[in-house]
Amino acid sequence: MPDAATCGACAAASPKLELRGVCQRYRGSRGETLALDGFDLRVAAHESVAILGPSGCGKSTSLLAACGLQHPTEGEVLVDGVNVRDYTLKALRDKIGYVPQQSFLFKGTIASNVAYGDTERNDADVKTACDVAQATEFIDKKDKKYDSGIAQGGSNVSGGQKQRLSIARAVYRHPEILIFDDSFSALDFKTDRAVRDALEREAKDSTKLIVAQRIGTIMNADRIIVLDDGKVVGQGTHHELLDNCEVYRQIAESQLSEDELNR
Ligand code: ADP
Ligand code: MG
Repeated sequence: MPDAATCGACAAASPKLELRGVCQRYRGSRGETLALDGFDLRVAAHESVAILGPSGCGKSTSLLAACGLQHPTEGEVLVDGVNVRDYTLKALRDKIGYVPQQSFLFKGTIASNVAYGDTERNDADVKTACDVAQATEFIDKKDKKYDSGIAQGGSNVSGGQKQRLSIARAVYRHPEILIFDDSFSALDFKTDRAVRDALEREAKDSTKLIVAQRIGTIMNADRIIVLDDGKVVGQGTHHELLDNCEVYRQIAESQLSEDELNR
């Protein structure tokens, strides 16, 4: 297995997103944690890459580094060949749509949450983004539709609805790179699938980096990176990993039926 999580397309062209030797140390009350230990990743433009691994293996940490929200202890992150530290926050936000593990809504309306930060809201784009995020159905049931009120923190909508609006917010901006941190976990399998299918259609040109706990969510990614204890322990397609990555096979066996495993 190569050291870096690389792909054929990246070898030829410069990658859209690159993590080079990223190490992240956290200091806490119980001492120091090495959450990422020399993580290398190259993602080509338009590629869809998934990261899978047990809880605490460093998935969220790798995404925080990738979107420039947390500069790693060591190593560097490049977007279009430029270090994320050299972008303004606004430029990075325009390029990267990030959906955090914990979705957050602001006091306002559905539309103001989806178009958050955009002073010239485009209502047609709000609707398209909500369609992609499979949020339209519950919005249409509300009297005030897109003008329905949202309480601080989104306390008046369900977890699944919050997650869908948070996905819509990222999609609304048409970012070149979309990063999802376990952003489909509160959705039922059917909705999860529908969001991913819609993303394939509506955001097909975006580079995607997706963390998920469910194998079903990421099985069809161009490439799956398996992390364990801050290190890459496997990469490839679902079928390649079933054959050659013990950590992946164990996760797959715990989630998929015998039939699904042999497909
Ligand atoms: P995952 O997303 O795969 O569950 P994380 O990236 O959240 O993993 O965490 C990796 C490790 O780093 C875990 O041991 C976690 O407890 C620790 N960690 C994450 N964030 C912090 C933080 N802000 N402070 C201290 N430790 C952290
Ligand atoms: Mg996480």
